[in-house]
Amino acid sequence: MSPQNYKFEGWLAHDTSAVEGKMTWGEFEPKRWEESDIDIKITHCGMCGSDVHTLRSGWYPAPYPIIVGHEIVGEVVRVGSKAAGSHKIGDRVGVGCLTDCCMGIAGVPICEACESGEEQFCPKARWTYPGPHHNGDKGYGGYATYHRCPGRFVFKIPDGLESKQAATMMCAGITMYSPLKRFGCGPGKLVGIVGLGGLGHYGVLLAKAMGADKVVAISRKASKRDEALKLGAGDYLATDDDVGWYKKYYNKLDLIVSTVASSKAPIKGYLAMLKRHGTLVQVGNPDDGQFALPQSTLIMKSLNFAGSSIGSAAEIREMLQLAADKKIKAWVEERPMHEANQAVLDLEEGKPRYRYCLMNQVAPKL
Ligand code: NAP
Ligand code: ZN
Repeated sequence: MSPQNYKFEGWLAHDTSAVEGKMTWGEFEPKRWEESDIDIKITHCGMCGSDVHTLRSGWYPAPYPIIVGHEIVGEVVRVGSKAAGSHKIGDRVGVGCLTDCCMGIAGVPICEACESGEEQFCPKARWTYPGPHHNGDKGYGGYATYHRCPGRFVFKIPDGLESKQAATMMCAGITMYSPLKRFGCGPGKLVGIVGLGGLGHYGVLLAKAMGADKVVAISRKASKRDEALKLGAGDYLATDDDVGWYKKYYNKLDLIVSTVASSKAPIKGYLAMLKRHGTLVQVGNPDDGQFALPQSTLIMKSLNFAGSSIGSAAEIREMLQLAADKKIKAWVEERPMHEANQAVLDLEEGKPRYRYCLMNQVAPKL
């Protein structure tokens, strides 16, 4: 297909009311074409809690008009002559949160983070939305028909992995895979996952697939208990409904990854469950204030309170292959692209079980 034959259209957010279901469908101007770029015809786009934070300007004032969505899967329709990644027209590919880094700027020496294979921490890292790209143009996300981005962080989807599964791994999956791997999830380990939402449900699936002895799902209400056990959790704690919920695992867990998107979360209880030298990795990024850390609990057990940001290109490839090999099945609910406004409202209400994926068309047959 020639570049002139398709239109970039998507769900534009014009101000903070977008999060109340007021995005409007319309045409947009993608970044100016560079020979390092590729164009993707979007088939799937997962919906992340970060989309909601951004739509309502929760973290910082969003540069409206914007289009959110960083769990993109689709078909390559145009490839620049200098695009990194050997992509071909017709390839089935995915794009996550990271769209560029120092390696995308000619003449700039490669930074220490990229040299170590942790491009997500590059000082010149660029995000899929709202960007800006290195040329200054805005980055538009995947609640749209087409996506244009540099080829470097575009990933081929392994055969055998469904597109809606792969899409939702591009952010939710990798944000859990990276800290689980880095902080030693595997045989012999007891792992807690806090918050059973899009990220958290991937945390349970991946920690099991990585061989943890037991995964304890920690949620607010008792209502997700049966689903957590079906996902593979060995136990379930409801922090609002179970009195003394942290006592059963007091000093027992090696690692906790918390996806909670609220600064009011009961951090002291989570830390009480960690063993000496244990680690709590916070990946949820609330926009309602900062955590109050109980320093005496950290001190008396020599605990680590860590953070983690998405994952590297190498980790994304590894995770996609692990998902294909181990046949990991995330719980993905399909929503037609035209229902995006309602889906944002439903996501805000915590309705997904457990990740929504916007669909432009019927998924291609594998
Ligand atoms: P989600 O599907 O909405 O899940 C968030 C979960 O947090 C909810 O299911 C809920 O779990 C818990 N939660 C929500 N409000 C809460 C409250 N007021 N008090 C206590 N718990 C609450 O969202 P998501 O897509 O998984 O994203 C989760 C967070 O991770 C967001 O802040 C997002 O921006 C952030 N994120 C970070 C990275 C990174 O690289 N670090 C990447 C992607 C997303 P229960 O109902 O089970 O209690
Ligand atoms: Zn995300």
